[in-house]
Amino acid sequence: MKKVYLDNAATTPQDPEVVEAMLPYFKEHFGNPSSIHAFGQKAKEGIDKARKIIAKKIKANPDEIIFTSGGTEANNLALKGIAHTQKAKGNHIITSQIEHHSVLNTARQLEKEGFKVTYLKVDKEGLVDPKELEKAITKETILVSVMAANNEIGTIEPTRELAKVARSHKIYFHTDAVQAFCKIPFDVGWGIDLASFSAHKIHGPKGIGALYIKRGTKIQPRQVGGHQEFEKRAGTENVPAIVGFGKAVEIYNVDELRKIAELRDKLIEGVINKIPKVKLNGPKEKRLPNIANFSFLGVEGEALLMELDSKGIACSTGSACAAPTLEPSHVLQAIGITAIVAHSSLRMSLGKENSEEDIDYVLEILPQAVKNLRKISPF
Ligand SMILES: *Cc1c(COP(=O)(O)O)cnc(C)c1O
Repeated sequence: MKKVYLDNAATTPQDPEVVEAMLPYFKEHFGNPSSIHAFGQKAKEGIDKARKIIAKKIKANPDEIIFTSGGTEANNLALKGIAHTQKAKGNHIITSQIEHHSVLNTARQLEKEGFKVTYLKVDKEGLVDPKELEKAITKETILVSVMAANNEIGTIEPTRELAKVARSHKIYFHTDAVQAFCKIPFDVGWGIDLASFSAHKIHGPKGIGALYIKRGTKIQPRQVGGHQEFEKRAGTENVPAIVGFGKAVEIYNVDELRKIAELRDKLIEGVINKIPKVKLNGPKEKRLPNIANFSFLGVEGEALLMELDSKGIACSTGSACAAPTLEPSHVLQAIGITAIVAHSSLRMSLGKENSEEDIDYVLEILPQAVKNLRKISPF
């Protein structure tokens, strides 16, 4: 059976070059990077190189890159680290309603500790308005955290403008740049104090990510121990994964994004032309090149997902993290979609492995699947 993977926003296949680069660090370069001897120094060289590559990509200094176990940990470290360090200055944090759960649930945990959190509303396309941010700021505000691009509907936020507002009030600005990284222009020089990244969304390994922390930013570590990661994240480094992360960034080919965007547009056009009562969710213009999100009115998203899966097509309802809860996506609700319509939604996220034939196959299977499910739909 033909297999079409359209869930690249959940995770991407690892590039064979990434795997190749990692292998020596499982074998001969097994040393502990904190060791003084040659074994240790070889491992440390691998880490240093990856740190430089990632720093260069976002125009940061290598000592501003802290490796973590992924985007989730980077978001936890950013929010809790700043909140706990700045507590004496204020107790108010601003974020948005459409953040990834690793930001939202961290914010909720901080609320339980006594912090006040404002969740900024977004418009119908998922955009946060810098003017709304300006209005939400109080004397107590210590941190603003708004994602650079959304993982469910692909909205690209006005990060530069939002950072400028925070900076003009001397408030720390953090952005979850996991989905934006490598795919759209991103520069910490925009006034960004902290930014989160993850390797497995860009063809790197799972379980590794990074937090950019601007020089001079005081942050309370989440875990203490040895002196690793500039005393901001203790524990022996995951050397092969870090090396793989660096490789994934090094070889990321932005030229492929144009092809991906073309395939996405072909998919969107095909779906809208071939299937009645479909709604494209998210922005028309300010959208990541690889994400399309649709509501198929009268169809249960989960049922459609399983039907497509049986035909070899993989996509998702809501985000991977939200999927098992059967709660309608908080992102779709935030852009004004009713719970029932949200339940009829599907995200298709493309990658560099997708071909024209993949999209043709989806456009052949999907209309019939929707038709069949509508026949038995209770709505
Ligand atoms: C995947 C994702 C994360 C979590 O990253 P992990 O490395 O899987 O922990 C955070 N934010 C966004 C926007 C994501 O898409």
